[in-house]
Amino acid sequence: MPLTAAETALIAQARQLAREQISPQAARWEQERRIGHEALAAAVALGLTRLQVPLAAGGLDFSFACKAELAEVLAGGDFGFTMSLINTHNVAAKLARDAAPAVAARYLPDLVAGRRLGCTALTEPGAGSDFAAITTLATRCDGGWRINGAKAWITNAAEADVIVLFAQTEPGSGGRGIAGFLVDGRRAGFVREPAYALGGQHSIGTGGFRLTDYLASDDELLHPPGQAFKAALGSINGARTYIAAMCNGMVADALQVAWAYGQQRSSFGQRLADHQGWRWRLAEAASELAACRLMVSRAAELIDAGQATGAPAQLAAAQAKLLACRMADRQLPALAQAMGAEGLREQHPFARHLLGARVAGFVDGSTEMLLERICAVMGG
Ligand SMILES: Cc1cc2nc3c(=O)[nH]c(=O)nc-3n(C[C@H](O)[C@H](O)[C@H](O)COP(=O)(O)OP(=O)(O)OC[C@H]3O[C@@H](n4cnc5c(N)ncnc54)[C@H](O)[C@@H]3O)c2cc1C
Repeated sequence: MPLTAAETALIAQARQLAREQISPQAARWEQERRIGHEALAAAVALGLTRLQVPLAAGGLDFSFACKAELAEVLAGGDFGFTMSLINTHNVAAKLARDAAPAVAARYLPDLVAGRRLGCTALTEPGAGSDFAAITTLATRCDGGWRINGAKAWITNAAEADVIVLFAQTEPGSGGRGIAGFLVDGRRAGFVREPAYALGGQHSIGTGGFRLTDYLASDDELLHPPGQAFKAALGSINGARTYIAAMCNGMVADALQVAWAYGQQRSSFGQRLADHQGWRWRLAEAASELAACRLMVSRAAELIDAGQATGAPAQLAAAQAKLLACRMADRQLPALAQAMGAEGLREQHPFARHLLGARVAGFVDGSTEMLLERICAVMGG
């Protein structure tokens, strides 16, 4: 399905945002180890936190193909900023769709205005790839649920306090007993850990938190046991697809920086771009990028056709993420090499993008889990 005029216009505005506000500030966010709030305000003004929120809830209800293109364009500015923004957006869209009206009304306005950040918490200190092994425990109590446990490696957890959290209600039952809750980080029983100190990509705001006798009311149960595991996995093909698009965006940005450099830097009496050995490297990157973009488009098409959870979408999304992550892992160092020592400067995006590609290899299904998914769909 072609993009609408409004979607195309929004993508053009996002491209400008990435070029003028995200990319120029990303190195500072990294130095200051923080989320890029300045650009978040501009993203809110464009409507990016309302992208897939239904029209009835004041959203734009744009297509998934539009979301994937936006993810590519924004990640070309900064992967971490884009992760942070999309995660807040995803919580807003989920609450508008799945939460009780009173709960949605309580949190949606602050989320879409960027006044509060959102996150989705599956991973724990003891369980990552094996989601069914989570041990955060939710037990029934008068009027709701009492939750105890810890979450780790969560995007936006450094600041987010509107949290979609998955917990086990029946230890030993695996995925069957998992339920989904809305957790408010301003309530008693919630303790945030300091943001993680990592090798980079601090604009993701990665961190964790602990819940001690946290009380969730009945209407804050988003997905009852028996339905939450499926709900969590229901959005994963979309997430894999936009992460693939983000890898494409980082390579596209690096390619453009290297190409521009090759036009003005000379060696042995001619421009770098006039050396066949130099420019072939960029032609390889551009060709692999084009292939990965097609894979993202194919997955996005299936999702927009209402087949987000079927086997074809599982396969298309897993393959798109697998190959886009590998392409970024391979091409970003090659493009940095094409810049010579200049590519090491902080003002250039290569090191930042490289770490972004490393993170992409873990979130929403590690490379190994994608290979397993591909085998499962193939009937293995
Ligand atoms: C920056 C960042 C942001 C994140 N944001 C979120 C978030 O917002 N919400 C959230 O819930 N989680 C988030 N995560 C966590 C992410 O989903 C996990 O890192 C991922 O699920 C992998 O889990 P793990 O890192 O614990 O690796 P483990 O599960 O411990 O696995 C370690 C390694 O072994 C491999 N492995 C595991 N099992 C198998 C197997 N059966 N066969 C072959 N190989 C295997 C894995 O692929 C991995 O390479 C984030 C992670 C990062 C780095």
